[in-house]
Amino acid sequence: MAGTGTGEQWLARYGNSLMGVFGNPQRVLVRGAGALVWDADGKEYLDLLGGIAVNALGHANPFVTSVIASQLATLGHVSNFFTSPTQIALAEKLLELSGAPAGSRVFFANSGTEANEAAFKLARAHGKSFVARGLPVRTTIIALEGAFHGRTMGALALTAKQAYREAFEPLPDGVRHIPFNDVDALRAAVDETVAAVVLEPIQGEAGVRPLSAEYLRAARELTAAAGALLIVDEVQTGVGRTGDWFAGTAAGITPDAMTLAKGLGGGFPIGALITFGDGPSSLLSAGQHGTTFGGNPVATAAALATLHVLENQHVLENVRSVGARLAAGLAAIDGVTEVRAHGLLIGFDLARPVAAKVVVAALEAGFIVNAPGPGTIRLAPPLILTAAQADTFLAALPGLLAGAFEQATDTPEGA
Ligand SMILES: *Cc1c(COP(=O)(O)O)cnc(C)c1O
Repeated sequence: MAGTGTGEQWLARYGNSLMGVFGNPQRVLVRGAGALVWDADGKEYLDLLGGIAVNALGHANPFVTSVIASQLATLGHVSNFFTSPTQIALAEKLLELSGAPAGSRVFFANSGTEANEAAFKLARAHGKSFVARGLPVRTTIIALEGAFHGRTMGALALTAKQAYREAFEPLPDGVRHIPFNDVDALRAAVDETVAAVVLEPIQGEAGVRPLSAEYLRAARELTAAAGALLIVDEVQTGVGRTGDWFAGTAAGITPDAMTLAKGLGGGFPIGALITFGDGPSSLLSAGQHGTTFGGNPVATAAALATLHVLENQHVLENVRSVGARLAAGLAAIDGVTEVRAHGLLIGFDLARPVAAKVVVAALEAGFIVNAPGPGTIRLAPPLILTAAQADTFLAALPGLLAGAFEQATDTPEGA
């Protein structure tokens, strides 16, 4: 129905029909299988970005595909006046995998930003709950410098980057950004006016920057002591990406709420907010929040199928072993100055700010990678990436870097 065309023809049509918010797409992709994708001109790529940490099982996983197709052919959508077995089973599965205590609950959305909007409303509701106890309302929400939580207004208020926010102010009030991974700054900020602290265990968009386990534990203790919620955004880090089911719980903390999206549906859009325990789970009552599509039978079937494969085909073991292999290989490459590897969420820094050039050269060479910063490359490949596939990238990278460094007229970083 879409017709055919060369990459160039499609991109001309794109420019005349799509809003320019994403700039110019790099390629027109037409087909995928596992960790490989092909463009409209027939060129093959090793997908080391996985649709930005989304395609957990790669492209066109046969099991996930067949589950989606048969669900769609059985019952596709019902509205939230009704429920369906896949919705209930997925909620139960997420509570099990996250080690959530009794009384925990799940809300389904369609994306990361929507899951974070729900979390934002949870924080507001928690802040208001103090009034019923004769205490002042709490409207402050603490987020971190470098944070990315999404593009809708609430999530954008939590997002730190000025360039994303500026044009859309005023944003919802009360959010304060504090320095990243700074326990003293957190201790100074978390007092009896704070409704919630929102953080990513590893900041993906900021270049794969982890909070220390010590910081996460301090955040848990300080919020608990102050009566504030700890909300952990695992939209990018969750569902096996780091080699654990969730990066935050792997660090030994139980948050009050956690948001998920990206990898959860194996490529099918779905988001989730998990509330831990009775208190956070009873903050939003009937009618206070909702969604038309969220938790629909097809999306929840896709997520159930994805989790089933992750659990039953030793995928998390693969994440740890191939992630470690990539980390060691990258660290040994000339021109790579730092590697931050957490399973198959990997950021590495270059000796010069030529990441954009490396992305272009990598594409030419048949590898999809991404540059979250001028001197930083991010990899978030399918969790089924093989050691042999990882090795092809490690073998190609020195040549790609040498070419980019040669072209660069910039001085070395820090010089
Ligand atoms: C991608 C991302 C989001 C936003 O998710 P969308 O599905 O793009 O709305 C939120 N938080 C984190 C940590 C993310 O990586």
